Amino acid sequence: MRGTLFSRALVLALLAGALTACICPRPSPPPQLAPSPPTTSYPTNEHTVQAVLWVQRSGEYRALCHQAFNLARRVLDEELKANPAPKKRAVVVDVDETVLDNSPYQARLVKTRQSYAPATWRQWVDLARAEALAGAVEFLTHAAARGVEVFYVSNRRIEEQAGTLANLRAKGFPNADDAHLLLRTTEGSKAKRRAAVSATHEIVLLLGDNLNDFSEAFDGKDAATRIAEVDRLAKEFGRRFIVLPNPLYGDFEDSIYRYNRGLPEPEKDALRKGALKDY
Ligand SMILES: [Mg+2]
Repeated sequence: MRGTLFSRALVLALLAGALTACICPRPSPPPQLAPSPPTTSYPTNEHTVQAVLWVQRSGEYRALCHQAFNLARRVLDEELKANPAPKKRAVVVDVDETVLDNSPYQARLVKTRQSYAPATWRQWVDLARAEALAGAVEFLTHAAARGVEVFYVSNRRIEEQAGTLANLRAKGFPNADDAHLLLRTTEGSKAKRRAAVSATHEIVLLLGDNLNDFSEAFDGKDAATRIAEVDRLAKEFGRRFIVLPNPLYGDFEDSIYRYNRGLPEPEKDALRKGALKDY
């Protein structure tokens, strides 16, 4: 009897449970995601994220900067030891990504999905807040203390002279004056400005992040020719030419766009992907 009663109670309980289950609303299916609207605006500068991170967050980048300036110091000291006779010597340096770090400007472009534009660049320059590359001030101060003049040959525009000088002075760079800062006036090639320095000084060293900081042999050349020219001038690197790493921008990228930086972003993306070499 107890067994029968228990069985009935169990059946009733199961029925009640089943009824309750039927009454409860069924969980609604997960909402379907609306299809993404067609992308019309390309994520400008997204491709530079890794490069900006490498410059700003890697010890390797910083180590390479120290390496470049340590090597420059050794080359300069050897030259001064080998030829102690006093004469007018110069070290020629580029500014951007050679002695001043503009990665915050690049980071801002990524975050705001903007391309480089003269107006935003000018705002950054006028802030005069770029940090010095690791080792740059120390090396150039060392050179200046030994009577070697420092010339800054940069393709910043002439309107950016005041902001550039303010930044160089704020960071303690030597020879930060109008006579030693040779900005771009009419042409991008630095050949004439280097020649102007050569007319009065022996250029012991050139430092830059872009191959056109060293020789006009690289001006406007396609990627394959630039690489071939580097091989042709191989002995100069680490001797008269000291290269700073810059994965952010430069002729290496512009040459992929055939020096047409104004191309639409999707087209530039296609050219970048098309230039990749796989196996
Ligand atoms: Mg540069």
